[in-house]
Amino acid sequence: MQKRLFLITFFWVAFTTLLISFTIKTTNQNTSMNTVTKKTTLKVEVFKGKAASVNSYLFTNGHSAIVMDVLRSSEEAKKLAKWIQSKQLPLTHILITHGHPDHYTGMDVLHKEFPQAKIVVANQDIKNDIKSFSTWMESVGWLEAEPALKPKSEKNPNGFDYDGLIEVLNSSTLTLQGGGTLELETIYQPAEAEHLTTVYSKDLNAFFTSDFCYNGVHLWLGNGVDQIHINNWKAQLVKFKAKYANSQPIIYPGHGEASTIELFDVVTKYIQQFEKVTQHAKTKKEAMAAMQKLYPTWTQADFLLLHSVDFHVQEK
Ligand SMILES: [Zn+2]
Repeated sequence: MQKRLFLITFFWVAFTTLLISFTIKTTNQNTSMNTVTKKTTLKVEVFKGKAASVNSYLFTNGHSAIVMDVLRSSEEAKKLAKWIQSKQLPLTHILITHGHPDHYTGMDVLHKEFPQAKIVVANQDIKNDIKSFSTWMESVGWLEAEPALKPKSEKNPNGFDYDGLIEVLNSSTLTLQGGGTLELETIYQPAEAEHLTTVYSKDLNAFFTSDFCYNGVHLWLGNGVDQIHINNWKAQLVKFKAKYANSQPIIYPGHGEASTIELFDVVTKYIQQFEKVTQHAKTKKEAMAAMQKLYPTWTQADFLLLHSVDFHVQEK
């Protein structure tokens, strides 16, 4: 009897040991398989707009895509849409970083080409900025060139439905379908725009500054960017420099080429020189010439610099 009990116990122990080791092995295999399927390679590509040299960024991971900012005209947005379609990935979100038309005008075209993609902003203020900028543009006749962007109203029931189509995100992260996370930040003092979103991607070690940075393109220091905004802007660039000193991300600006964190210094210096030039210049023409002499290769002098000088130089 004892022998029988011993044999049963022996076989029971042997069986369970075998079963446990088998389970561990399968679990390990599953874990490594999960790691393989979960691993996504986030990629970013730039579509360079001609008008205002503004950038549109496309994030993809082999499963889906998110586009950030959509150019200054419907005509250019059509090219952007074709380019996105060529990737053959579902576009899930159209993220608008701030309420300036060079970043959102293309959204009507994008919405029509990708009706399933959500137009999203990081907070209510940005949604309000977009709608009020368009309302103002319509009032001064600027939307005659972009009639689809005229706000929907009782008088214009076919206008763009800013209230219904722009969704405010309730999270500070935006995750791609299939993996990959974008970290959104909006807690900034008014600078280039009243409210602005930046995007950081740990996977890419990349920081998308939106219009806190321009590279090789004259900055917008026009209507609305007064001395308080300028001071906030410079202070924020100092903060960015400290924050990213160790991780050294690639800096993707709102306008112009990607750069290193050196760009924070470049932009700061530009602002300081602009202040100096506009404080001393007696005429707008003189200020234009001085800035173009300092930045001979920077683009958009006839648009961005012109408006900036016009706002900051008072001719007596
Ligand atoms: Zn811009």
